[in-house]
Amino acid sequence: MKKRVVIVGAGFGGLELSATLSEKLGDGVDITLVDQNDSFVFGFSKLEVMFGRATPAEVRIPYRTIAKPGVRFVQQTVAAIDPEAKRVTTDRAVFEADYLVIALGADYDAGATPGLAEAGNEYYSMSGADRIRSVLPAFTRGNAIVGVCGAPFKCPPAPSEAALLLHDHLMRRGIREQCTITLVMPFGSPVPPSPDTSRALVAAFAERNIAFVPSRQVRQLSAARRVAVLDDGSELPYDLFLGIPKHVAPQVVQASGLTENGWISVHPRTLETRYPGVYAIGDVSNPGTPKAGVFAEGAARSVASALIAALTGVGQQEPYAGAGSCYVEFGGGQIGRVDVDFFSGPKPTGSYQAASAALRADKEHFASSRRARWFGMSR
Ligand SMILES: Cc1cc2nc3c(=O)[nH]c(=O)nc-3n(C[C@H](O)[C@H](O)[C@H](O)COP(=O)(O)OP(=O)(O)OC[C@H]3O[C@@H](n4cnc5c(N)ncnc54)[C@H](O)[C@@H]3O)c2cc1C
Repeated sequence: MKKRVVIVGAGFGGLELSATLSEKLGDGVDITLVDQNDSFVFGFSKLEVMFGRATPAEVRIPYRTIAKPGVRFVQQTVAAIDPEAKRVTTDRAVFEADYLVIALGADYDAGATPGLAEAGNEYYSMSGADRIRSVLPAFTRGNAIVGVCGAPFKCPPAPSEAALLLHDHLMRRGIREQCTITLVMPFGSPVPPSPDTSRALVAAFAERNIAFVPSRQVRQLSAARRVAVLDDGSELPYDLFLGIPKHVAPQVVQASGLTENGWISVHPRTLETRYPGVYAIGDVSNPGTPKAGVFAEGAARSVASALIAALTGVGQQEPYAGAGSCYVEFGGGQIGRVDVDFFSGPKPTGSYQAASAALRADKEHFASSRRARWFGMSR
């Protein structure tokens, strides 16, 4: 009988893992890829949607286009995970695995920030980004806040990108002078591992009159007084709040007993949990790297090498490198790039490529190469 690999979650991590296993092993292995949704969306597409540059339908990539030897995609919701038995129960079936990989990402807990759901907006979910698209036209003057409500959060540059793109949006509408923009972030600098990237972002904020409030997060929103209360008790008035909600592991993962300090604890180099043959990759896990698609992909490639070695008896696992590149939107069509490395040295390091129009082609290639590789779509 073929060995069974069950991958729960078809995001950056699950898609990269299933594509790599299929490329290397073809029909020689039985891969089940489970996701509750019918389509994948790049995280950065939510910025496109919130500022009205694309509709949700335009950025969704349907899973039905996946046609990979050995891979069966099932659209089901995972209801229980038994890591000891390597068994996953969904709303419709039970899947037994020889190797189980959990790639369920991070969920949002809007309720952890009182007032956020009633008196604010979040742009980290597709529904939230879509709602902002319809809320933004009504904002014509006053104070806008882009505020982080908890750490860790996905894609550390994304709040800075939202503040810069909001500036562009308000400029285009000719109302920038009537509005303030404040960015509230829990870190001391926008991208802590890369001082050069942080310096470039802080300079861009200053040029655009965006107030940057470092080392703070938003604790609650008062609907009645229209103020955001920060974690030191200080208050900022707002008319438009674009939030990054507190992130949590999906409920089904918390119930599995695999979490420690909120996230699945894994060996940072092998991504294996304390259960043999059970791995966790991407945002749901805590190997010591940021929550970002490129890190989920890197983890997937490492786990793929482990499974290929185990299934073929050839080679060995390539340790998870903990390094990746991110493109950073500066607005005005300018894109910067930051390359970060969390494991090679005694502390994380990062290098920066200055924002330019030329790097847009690189970012577009990043997206189109994944569409081609994971979904077989033409570029
Ligand atoms: C605004 C924004 C901008 C971003 N920009 C970038 C960027 O430029 N570069 C970058 O690298 N990263 C970026 N990211 C981060 C990136 O999107 C995530 O870090 C990445 O998607 C994580 O991959 P993952 O595989 O761990 O999880 P995900 O991609 O979130 O996939 C998890 C999957 O699990 C599924 N799932 C969850 N629960 C269940 C369940 N119970 N049953 C079935 N299925 C379930 C979900 O439907 C989802 O498809 C950005 C994120 C945001 C919000």
